[in-house]
Amino acid sequence: MMPKYMNMNVADLKIMEDQIVAMDRISDLPDFIIHHIMSYLSTLEATQMCVLSKRWNHLQTSFPILYFDQIYFEEEDLATGREERSFCMSIDKFIQFVDASLLRFCEAKVSMEKFRLSMKVFDVEGVASLLDKWIELAVANEVKELDLNVQTTDNRVHSLPGTMVEELDLNVRTNKDRMYTLPGTLFSAKFVTTLKLSGCNLEMSSAYTTMRFHSLKKLVLNAVHIDEQMVSKFISECPLLEDLFLGLCWHCKRILVSHAPKLKTLTVNGSSSSFCDSDLIVHDIESIEIVARSLEQCTLIDVDRSSAIDMVGCADLKYFNLTGVNILVQEFHKLISKFPLLEKLIVNCCVLESISLSSNRLKELQILHCSRLRVIDIDVPSLLTFSYVFYGNPASSINVPYPCSWKVGFSPGCQRYGDLIWLDSIKKFLKLPYEIDELSTSISIQDMESFNLDKFKKNSPSLPREVRNLTIAVGAVHPSNYAGLLDCLLWICYPRILSMKPYAGQSSIEFIMWLYEKMMKRDAKCCNGHRIKCWHHYLKDFKIESFVPLKDPKPLHMDNLMVALPNFPQGTIRFRLDWCFSEHIDEA
Ligand SMILES: [Zn+2]
Repeated sequence: MMPKYMNMNVADLKIMEDQIVAMDRISDLPDFIIHHIMSYLSTLEATQMCVLSKRWNHLQTSFPILYFDQIYFEEEDLATGREERSFCMSIDKFIQFVDASLLRFCEAKVSMEKFRLSMKVFDVEGVASLLDKWIELAVANEVKELDLNVQTTDNRVHSLPGTMVEELDLNVRTNKDRMYTLPGTLFSAKFVTTLKLSGCNLEMSSAYTTMRFHSLKKLVLNAVHIDEQMVSKFISECPLLEDLFLGLCWHCKRILVSHAPKLKTLTVNGSSSSFCDSDLIVHDIESIEIVARSLEQCTLIDVDRSSAIDMVGCADLKYFNLTGVNILVQEFHKLISKFPLLEKLIVNCCVLESISLSSNRLKELQILHCSRLRVIDIDVPSLLTFSYVFYGNPASSINVPYPCSWKVGFSPGCQRYGDLIWLDSIKKFLKLPYEIDELSTSISIQDMESFNLDKFKKNSPSLPREVRNLTIAVGAVHPSNYAGLLDCLLWICYPRILSMKPYAGQSSIEFIMWLYEKMMKRDAKCCNGHRIKCWHHYLKDFKIESFVPLKDPKPLHMDNLMVALPNFPQGTIRFRLDWCFSEHIDEA
């Protein structure tokens, strides 16, 4: 067969030519619009676009947002092959690319909006002068956002087995003498408004005497070697600083935040799971002292010695998050009493035994994984939302103001699903006279043991509580446990919406398919002669409401979702359950 265009006449060809011209209309857009479009693309995508359009190629060189991430230069086989030589080659290629792009940008003589560099280095001394030069160029081009993440790694990392690599890698990454030391020129970046530094050495030196961060509003220091003197210098010499993040600041054991008249948000993180893939690194912070009248939000994560938290000078605090802070009851209440304007409080402390709060301002309270907590006594009429997540048993005494929305999460902890005493404690907890909007739990194979509904009926002879939404994260549960799991959940509560989502990346499709079949074909020949019967007798209607994919959380509504489900990506499926308790049931 002849190609289609061979039959075309001159007029057709003219139309086709016009169409091609029209397709490149994007090149006719003004510079600033193309720059705006480019700001949504990665460096690599923007480079690919340059191949398609000549003008893009020209505009790429003057595009003021420069993102360079070495990860895009590592070839895929490299990530698994750990070959040292090709890794070195990828670093070389990356360095050449950054250097050439930066030099071309500087020739365009426009000011730089953002400069982000993320790379791994073996030989810091070998690349230090180049990195210094890049920072100098960014500063000279009036950079406004500067984000530097330079991780030192050992070249043997790519030829050793996994566990040795992790140990070696950790030693190298945290060794000050092998880290990249930032140049003094950085401190003259007077246009910079956001500065993020990670993996570098920033200990006080004579090169750092002059600091000109007159515009700096946001400072993020993560996994850096920095001493107390230098942290104080940053805080006191950045008069506009509004947002400060101090994460894994080695050599800074006593954190003092004062003389920061505009500081609104502060985060102190004593650990970092994102910094290293292997272990959680914890930095031992000895004390935290914060004197910042303007402070509105404060987050403290993984601070071990809570006795030394002093926040007397933060009376305007509205948001406080204590996560992984080993704080004792007395210290906790003393600390909280300093914040009369608090509106949101998040507490995640495994040693805390009781929480007693009284306030007229607090709107949201989250109590998460406080495993030793026994008493919750909240005298807060303003409270709108109360989130309570626990492992094992709930607190034995709970008093929370009445008209407030509850979100509860529970999981077995050291107990197991199927354990009748534990299930009964959950059921009793749910009987509390509060409206539970969301209830969630997670179940995986190791949590599940055989469940006997008849025994549980005798053990806990009362009708389950109705809840608005029950979400279960289901892991790899064996099909022999499906029926038991469903029976025990529906002897604890009757959800109006039942959402099932995958747990720890494991698929729960088989269980969902089974559940659907079971619910559709429910028969109620059991429970003869029992006053309170099992769920089969009360469930009047059951239908699929929606499916929400994990990656693109837009609900899908389809007529025959069950047929399509096995081919769907991972996500949450929601069922609507209608219950009817028409028979007179006299509650025990
Ligand atoms: Zn029954």
